[in-house]
Amino acid sequence: MRIAGVLLAAFCALRGVSASAEPQQTCPSDGLGVARVVEIDMSGGPWFGAPLGDRELLVPGEVVLTFDDGPMPRSTRPILAALAAQCTRATFFMVGEMAAEHADVVREVAEQGHTIGTHTWSHLNLKRLPDDKMKLQIEAAFTAVEKAAGAPIAPFFRYPYLSSSDATVAYLQSRNIAQFAIDIDSFDWRSRNAPSVIHRVMSTLEQRGRGIILLHDIFPSTATAVPALLKALKAKGYKVVHLRPAAPAQTLAGIDPPAKEVTHGGHMRRVRIHARSGSPSKWLTW
Ligand SMILES: [Zn+2]
Repeated sequence: MRIAGVLLAAFCALRGVSASAEPQQTCPSDGLGVARVVEIDMSGGPWFGAPLGDRELLVPGEVVLTFDDGPMPRSTRPILAALAAQCTRATFFMVGEMAAEHADVVREVAEQGHTIGTHTWSHLNLKRLPDDKMKLQIEAAFTAVEKAAGAPIAPFFRYPYLSSSDATVAYLQSRNIAQFAIDIDSFDWRSRNAPSVIHRVMSTLEQRGRGIILLHDIFPSTATAVPALLKALKAKGYKVVHLRPAAPAQTLAGIDPPAKEVTHGGHMRRVRIHARSGSPSKWLTW
């Protein structure tokens, strides 16, 4: 991983693409804000998050907020409002077909200065796909989300189920697309309960001290949790780091969405994955 530059951002003084991109509200003096904006060079497709990411990306007490699987209007919009109320920024890993269906929400995410990456076209397990379908899942997502956003997006990618293979890694590296894992799992997909989400994040953070936090903006329970979670992070002295790309994602010409896969089972299937670190396999769901 190469960090092209680290920009110190004044509390609640971030500048987006344009002045109109800033949320139209006053930031509270006790808001969470953004402590640092880190601009990242994605050359070579670096990893972020455990186990392969550079742990020194964040110093103790720093977190990165990430949301997967959306956008979903009923839950993404309240989350955007909560983030705006605290003048803080997150990264959204969007599913291509969701972005195509809810382009208006994608634009809102972009206009409010958040970073937008992708999470495949239809949330398939890439490790189980032949190379041509694997690549189309990736490329169709970038094309669809960029179109929906109406602006360039980040070359940031998170694997559904955190399931990668040598082929997927090699392909994303060749495309200079950053590969995101996680450090702190909210387990919001499992609990579907706001207090549980907050407890899980805060207790895991207490143990690990820093990290990339995984949430899902498709759940109303997560939307309910986020305002209190942001306040809890602030109360405990955690600082939010906003990751930005040094250059936007380069989409390919002539990419059409994949045909509907009969194997698509939604977002919550349990799959058996093998950690790339060589540690024993374990059950995970994303
Ligand atoms: Zn997912």
